[in-house]
Amino acid sequence: MTDAIVTRFAPSPTGHLHLGHAYAAIFAHDLAKAQGGRFLLRIEDIDQGRVRPAFEKQIYEDLTWLGLMWEKPVRRQSDHMDLYRSELSRLSAAGLTYPCFCTRKDIQREIKAIPSAPHGPEGALYPGTCRHLSETERAQRKANGDAYAIRLNVEAALGSLGDPEPYLYIEDGCGPHGEHGLQIGEPHLFGDIVLGRKDVGVSYHLAVTVDDHRQGVTHVTRGEDLFHAAHIQRLLQELLGYTAPIYHHHKLILHNSGRRLAKRDQDLTIKHLREEGITPAAIRQRLGLPIV
Ligand code: GLU
Repeated sequence: MTDAIVTRFAPSPTGHLHLGHAYAAIFAHDLAKAQGGRFLLRIEDIDQGRVRPAFEKQIYEDLTWLGLMWEKPVRRQSDHMDLYRSELSRLSAAGLTYPCFCTRKDIQREIKAIPSAPHGPEGALYPGTCRHLSETERAQRKANGDAYAIRLNVEAALGSLGDPEPYLYIEDGCGPHGEHGLQIGEPHLFGDIVLGRKDVGVSYHLAVTVDDHRQGVTHVTRGEDLFHAAHIQRLLQELLGYTAPIYHHHKLILHNSGRRLAKRDQDLTIKHLREEGITPAAIRQRLGLPIV
């Protein structure tokens, strides 16, 4: 007998949940339930400047109203900042990170100066300015009190995985329609990404990767807009010695006008739809999900 599958829904309490979140939550919930597995809810609140307790409370209310049940206690990322920092320090101790003192303006200026600056899915890649600082310069700037982020040195990270570096396969597609299928990870896609933000000391990619591992998540299901994130998260799993989960990046729910839903679309929040008198079954129907 194989172990039960574990899925999760991991919202950030920075706004009200909308129909797209409802789809993601129900998708993960139903997948686990269909296979006698476990469904987890995780509150992604590392960005304490943007999160609001009222939004977190609303998440619980909305999901309960939708008929979902999850295991308790709910994991909140803000309770585990030390863990993320200590996982990050493992990568630093292995020589795979470097401090980056650049401001956004510095980075923009550098990129403009490079005739064909390499681009990734989210725009121009970090040009690697601080990768080349000497240890003395780093120490001096830290002693000056200059703020810094911690970046992953992707070249060094891939080098540490061996020669030739292994293919980081991404197994994507565990839902009824199967999505991307087996993909070869492209860890270079985003360049030297930030693992430790200047303001909070950790980053989304780091916290998500550590949590999915710690919580034993076997199936990471989420919207198609996060497909590219899997390339980085696969690399981090490999560097930190974690088992890779199966992924499923599902369709996004679009606004009537065809664009992606955003937190500002107040008319399509679950709270609003509920106040309008829509039933959870009608929401499932609208999302094309089976009614239970
Ligand atoms: N917290 C992320 C969001 O709200 C989702 C992270 C994930 O599913 O990997 O977009």
